[in-house]
Amino acid sequence: MRDPVFCFDRDKTIDVNPPENGPAVPLSWVQYYAHCTEHDVWATGNPRLCREAGIPSPREARELLDTAGCEPVASYDRMNSGRIDRLRLLNQLYGESYDGSVEFVVVDDTDVTEYTDGRSWSYYSPAEFVIAVKNGAFPTPDTAAVSGSPYRTPEHGDCYRPQLERFERRLSN
Ligand SMILES: [Mg+2]
Repeated sequence: MRDPVFCFDRDKTIDVNPPENGPAVPLSWVQYYAHCTEHDVWATGNPRLCREAGIPSPREARELLDTAGCEPVASYDRMNSGRIDRLRLLNQLYGESYDGSVEFVVVDDTDVTEYTDGRSWSYYSPAEFVIAVKNGAFPTPDTAAVSGSPYRTPEHGDCYRPQLERFERRLSN
């Protein structure tokens, strides 16, 4: 898989619940990467972001592993104390699904370098990620391509099905 996998926290990270200091990551950026690029995007913080951005969470990753007969390395806990376990579940899902290394980018106001250091994971605070995008480290979001907030409504909540179905296929091979 060529493009890094994005993992976004929500609270105090995305502009629907911005940090007290410094810039927030616009929700439209998350939507853009999820629906207008080849990046896989996951909500690794508050799962409200799933519905707001139309992206899955490690809960779905765990279900995929379970259904495929792989023992998940962690439970899914949506509370703050579960954030490292949520990253571990995604790491396991990609490890089971893809040969070779996958790069992960985790954007979170909580420092998760205790997990990311020494792995193919890069940690960015919201402000660091905004700067990295502005400096061209990642594609510049074309937010006009994501008009309005089309993913906020519950009926769009399953628009990440194709991403999950790709894993179903890969895990069954
Ligand atoms: Mg947070």
